[in-house]
Amino acid sequence: LTSQLRQAQKMESVGRLAGGVAHDFNNMLGVILGHVELAMGRIGSMGPVHKDLERIRESAMRSADLTKQLLTFARKQIISPRVLDLNDTVDSMLSMLRRLIGENIRLVWQPGNDLWPVKMDPSQIDQILANLCVNARDAISGVGTITIQTDRKIFDQMYCDHHSGAVPGEYVLLSVGDDGAGMDKAVLKNLFEPFFTTKDIGKGTGLGLATVYGIVKQNNGYINVYSEPGLGSVFRIYLPRHIITDPDPELLSDIHEPDPIMP
Ligand code: ADP
Repeated sequence: LTSQLRQAQKMESVGRLAGGVAHDFNNMLGVILGHVELAMGRIGSMGPVHKDLERIRESAMRSADLTKQLLTFARKQIISPRVLDLNDTVDSMLSMLRRLIGENIRLVWQPGNDLWPVKMDPSQIDQILANLCVNARDAISGVGTITIQTDRKIFDQMYCDHHSGAVPGEYVLLSVGDDGAGMDKAVLKNLFEPFFTTKDIGKGTGLGLATVYGIVKQNNGYINVYSEPGLGSVFRIYLPRHIITDPDPELLSDIHEPDPIMP
């Protein structure tokens, strides 16, 4: 518990710092982008200068994407949890994910049968999937396969004894696997640390998995990682089953109106 608390505090202060920097940086990027576009409009679409400006514009846009990611991480987003079937949420994301991972990588989707509902903000599922798929894509050089699966999973006492901290109960599994580079022990140890990245500058912020971890914890879920250097990785996320309860009429009739307050 203390290590989780420490992680939460660290995320909080790192988030505040990153948010402040990202906000100012984003404003300056806006100025750069605005003037580049102005200049491009003035010189027309011919000639070498246009190409240079186009490159500046692309780079500034990529920077803007990174700062946007920083801001999302820093801001406590207002979430609106809904009762969801994860299969539907994944279905609605597939075409976006295909575009994200490109043509050389196959996306295999294996929905589990009779999934239990979960209660969470659908945009948080989107964020989890996008982050895990980008990482899977980056781990694959050339051709490869990313597999998304869902399933039911029961944590019994024995499972929880072996996975310290896990609470017995019924969960919905969302897993994203790849046959990419995999990770060694040193990477696995730091995976969820904010700003830990092995990617080149400009390619990664090191916030993807810290964000995923935050979302999963916020929803009382768990995340496990299995990875083998050279073979690939699987991220398994367990989200608690949402029990839909009909209001009990007996109980409802027991609720008394409060006594009127006399002036
Ligand atoms: P970023 O993607 O910006 O680097 P993340 O927090 O998403 O930040 O990931 C941190 C690091 O974890 C990555 O830089 C990479 O080294 C490693 N990693 C994450 N997912 C995978 C994966 N599927 N396969 C191999 N390495 C991974």
